[in-house]
Amino acid sequence: MAYVINDECISCGACEAECPVNAISEGDGKYVIDPDTCIDCGSCASVCPVGAPQA
Ligand code: SF4
Ligand code: SF4
Repeated sequence: MAYVINDECISCGACEAECPVNAISEGDGKYVIDPDTCIDCGSCASVCPVGAPQA
């Protein structure tokens, strides 16, 4: 199971810089995680100011 960024995302970009496998990119109105690349490390969730990445 990959992490998924919910609609709480404010597009701050903090998670993109933290992802060790570059699975996160800017999407339409929020950032998105490529489920085939995500390794479930949880780094995005730990840096997100609004708790948008959910396991
Ligand atoms: Fe990247 Fe880890 Fe977040 Fe998956 S859980 S998107 S690998 S930072
Ligand atoms: Fe969105 Fe959180 Fe990532 Fe910022 S850190 S872009 S609010 S998911």
